[in-house]
Amino acid sequence: MPSEHKNLKQLDAQSILHPSTNAHDFAETGSKIIQSGKGIHLHDTDGNTLIDAVAGLWCVNVGYGRSELADAMQQAATNLSYYHTFTGMSNVPQIELAERLLSLAPKQMSKVFFASGGSDGNDSLMKIVWYYHNLIGKPAKRKIISRWQAYHGTSVATASLTGLPSFHKDFNLPIDGVLHTESPDYFRHANPGESELAFSQRRADELEQMILREGPDTVGAFIAEPVMGAGGVITPPEGYFAAIQAVTRKYDILFIADEVVCGFGRLGTWFGSEVYDIEPDMMTTAKALTSGYFPFSASFITEKIWDVIKQGSAKYGSFAHGYTYAGHPIGAAVAMANLDIIESEKLVDQSADVGAYFHQQLQQRFANDPFVAQIRGQGMLAAVQLMQDKDSKTFFAPSTKIAPQVTAECYKNGLIARPLPSVDSVAFSPPLVTTKSDVDSIVAIFEQSLRTVMQQHG
Ligand code: PLP
Repeated sequence: MPSEHKNLKQLDAQSILHPSTNAHDFAETGSKIIQSGKGIHLHDTDGNTLIDAVAGLWCVNVGYGRSELADAMQQAATNLSYYHTFTGMSNVPQIELAERLLSLAPKQMSKVFFASGGSDGNDSLMKIVWYYHNLIGKPAKRKIISRWQAYHGTSVATASLTGLPSFHKDFNLPIDGVLHTESPDYFRHANPGESELAFSQRRADELEQMILREGPDTVGAFIAEPVMGAGGVITPPEGYFAAIQAVTRKYDILFIADEVVCGFGRLGTWFGSEVYDIEPDMMTTAKALTSGYFPFSASFITEKIWDVIKQGSAKYGSFAHGYTYAGHPIGAAVAMANLDIIESEKLVDQSADVGAYFHQQLQQRFANDPFVAQIRGQGMLAAVQLMQDKDSKTFFAPSTKIAPQVTAECYKNGLIARPLPSVDSVAFSPPLVTTKSDVDSIVAIFEQSLRTVMQQHG
């Protein structure tokens, strides 16, 4: 390793508090520094070339190093480097983007609210839930129900929505008024012999019981990712969202779809809601909106909610919420160029096609593997469930840290896959420009890495 890179690693360890990183272990292991990227490949400062089968953090859908996005960024920055969107100010790129997004989004969506990421997008929707219910004279309807295993962000409010205990413990979270109902994880939680439909109905019944316990007049919204991402790549079991939506509609509870991972082609459709017949009242998108080239999010609301906000402003004054970088002209221009690529290269169709091939290959290679208990996902989102003994449904001891072991071996072999330690799974969400022959390479490296690690546990 060149000495300047060694230096960088030391400087990094001395100066940065890394997100979602074990601060104690990190002091010893140090960072991996990514230096450049092109297409689905990354290069680190140790001289490794890696296939990024996670697309960064499930976001680089058009792949790395796209000059179209760099050009759009440069032109936008040269033309208007920044101007705010408070107090009725606007800019051309955000207007064009809003119009385009509304033409792609579920038809009931009527207005877009821009922010910088998934957390502040979801945070904004939580505030809109409260604002809306206050304005319609139902101030008590303020509780928000999320699910265990969900991931909705890490701000104070959205870490509360996130249903992973490590995001709550020692942070004094969740905040009051955020509740978690049981997760849709059929693999882990189904009773012996219980069908997917019966399990889904049980989950909907549990949600209804929670609402009745709390009082329907106190519950304002329910939030869900179409497919849970960081919590395990959990696809909803058959009939799940139909049963859940029957309950939310019955008690007049707003449905928030968190499309931060699923939006913009990940599941082989523009949005995950399409796959599972979800009809959200509100929706957040981020990540692939700009393929991660610029921090940018778009949250959507229906005309019904917009109407209340409009009438509220007439009575009470401005909608007093927003961020300095909301509707940033550079971010909006990048999002437009990103959508141009997704459309002109037909990446949503490619995601469906290559995603089907990816799942077929994973099934073919691992369905009979003694250590692989389930392969799940949809489109270009997949997870492989590892298990010590799948016949007796015995999980690895948590101290084994099996998923991080496998992904560390993948890295050594030139592949970035994502460990999901809370569910002993390895996740994949490659850029949508990934081809079938790239999939062959991903699957081959994963297979080799899995064998190496499992030989030590066989
Ligand atoms: N919602 C989902 C489904 C996510 O996966 C994430 C991030 O991974 C977020 C929200 C939070 O987004 P951000 O990290 O941009 O705040």
